[in-house]
Amino acid sequence: MVEVQLQRRGIRDERVLAAMNEIPREEFVPPESRVEAYIDGPIPIGHGQTISQPYMTALMAELLLLTGNETVLEVGAGCGYAAAVLGKLAARVVAIELVPALAELASDNLRRTGRDANIAVVEGDGWFGYPPLAPYRAISVAAAAPEIPAALLEQLDDPGRLVIPVDISEDQELRILRKRGGRIDYEVATFCRFVPLRGGGR
Ligand code: SAH
Repeated sequence: MVEVQLQRRGIRDERVLAAMNEIPREEFVPPESRVEAYIDGPIPIGHGQTISQPYMTALMAELLLLTGNETVLEVGAGCGYAAAVLGKLAARVVAIELVPALAELASDNLRRTGRDANIAVVEGDGWFGYPPLAPYRAISVAAAAPEIPAALLEQLDDPGRLVIPVDISEDQELRILRKRGGRIDYEVATFCRFVPLRGGGR
């Protein structure tokens, strides 16, 4: 997976590659999908949700330029896999999940794999971020939204980086936003296909 799906497509950050190599992805997919755990695509995890394609998890982690000192907010914990990867790369991760059963699944998976020491899974609506531990030096959103939730921009530290898939007509683009000196700019990293970000009172 690391060589064929990640390095050949341009993932270069050694810490990201090492984290993806180390976290046992098969422990985060449903038991019946274990044999498919390393396929080059998303896998259903129940409740109409998926564990993201490995390349997307790696790319999002790489775009955040984590050094090990950051507090990271992940919106959409799902099965907890991306949270585990981010937990290897940052000081602390808060992973918020809207679906209670998935929040429980993420907690269980992280505990069982011994990854929970610096990762807190909270149940809630990530449209509103998670104010108690804000600001966040990095925010990763694992579901696509028509716009960047205002609360996330507020809770992003300065400087800070936020990665999010954004709906644009028929497609989605993965944006990396940078906040610096009170200003925000962004670049499009790639096109992508994520499940929709729900909640937000919509
Ligand atoms: N991070 C996961 C991907 C999960 S898919 C991985 O490691 O592969 C996206 C997740 O976002 C789903 O679990 C979905 O339930 C969750 N989600 C959707 N809208 C949300 C919201 N408003 N707040 C928190 N989680 C949300």
